[in-house]
Amino acid sequence: MYPAAFEYHAPASVREALGLLGQYKDDAKLLAGGHSLVPMMKLRLAQPKHLIDLKKIPGLSYIKEDGGAIAIGAMTTHWQVESSALLKQKCPVLSETAAVIGDPAVRNLGTIGGSLAHADPAADMPATIIAHGAEFVCEGPKGRRTVKVDDWFLGLMSTAVKEDELLVEVRVPLWAGKTGGAYLKFPHPASRFAVVGAAAVVTLDGAGKCTKAGVGITGAGIKAVRARDVEAGLVGKNLDQATIEAAAAKAAEGVDVQADLQGSVEYKSHLCRVFARRALEAAVKRARG
Ligand SMILES: Cc1cc2nc3c(=O)[nH]c(=O)nc-3n(C[C@H](O)[C@H](O)[C@H](O)COP(=O)(O)OP(=O)(O)OC[C@H]3O[C@@H](n4cnc5c(N)ncnc54)[C@H](O)[C@@H]3O)c2cc1C
Repeated sequence: MYPAAFEYHAPASVREALGLLGQYKDDAKLLAGGHSLVPMMKLRLAQPKHLIDLKKIPGLSYIKEDGGAIAIGAMTTHWQVESSALLKQKCPVLSETAAVIGDPAVRNLGTIGGSLAHADPAADMPATIIAHGAEFVCEGPKGRRTVKVDDWFLGLMSTAVKEDELLVEVRVPLWAGKTGGAYLKFPHPASRFAVVGAAAVVTLDGAGKCTKAGVGITGAGIKAVRARDVEAGLVGKNLDQATIEAAAAKAAEGVDVQADLQGSVEYKSHLCRVFARRALEAAVKRARG
């Protein structure tokens, strides 16, 4: 399959890219790693007349600590997230999530910004980004604005980034104290996308009581979501096995689980509960050290 004809642009700055977006509007698409967009173009599900490649723009690929958060440039590849010494030390669940995306070819070219802007309902990173409470920095003609993760995923492959904007940075707050996180998924055997995936991050106080919890679910519905009922079942409690199981039993509530080729609503709801429990068990174990 070949894509429809398009004109290729390689801007050298964010400003130049924004100028091209403003000029070509609906006819333009941004190109990051190309691992979602190019297959869609080959299937003619996307037929942009202008492709604006972000790869030649310097300064969009980095991972650094900044004001109590880890700032990650939108063009940072999955492999860079997976192998980052800083993330492994400060926020290992992010590296672990990147490590289970697709295969090495996908991880070498696919980017965190592309994945989070594309918002595939079966993508891995959205669950972890939700659990951690990240923020998104978008740049448009009027400057930069920040979007909280709970306002980011709007629907099927739809996010808060506007048509005249670029996602330039993802900011992942560092959680204080005894914190542990985990992301686990039931992978599709061919693509490795998540049939269902669950991320959990918990903080415990000195007595072992949960002071903060984040849980994200991906794959089950049309978009990744925060499992609020699970979180509510954790905060303020000692996270013994019975508490974890009772909280995880609510993992499919509020998810709007969809039946698809991978499974029925009942089956995918079951996977939500099982993987939320497993992610929580692993996160709590890590928080206890
Ligand atoms: C065989 C295969 C297996 C895969 N398996 C998995 C998997 O197991 N788990 C998983 O999570 N993903 C998987 N993926 C998807 C992969 O993670 C992609 O890298 C990712 O979804 C898109 O990132 P990209 O950089 O390739 O974006 P692109 O394909 O270049 O772009 C995707 C979309 O995002 C937009 N976009 C890109 N960057 C920006 C930006 N900075 N600002 C605004 N909009 C932007 C583009 O315009 C486009 O609409 C797989 C892909 C393939 C081909």
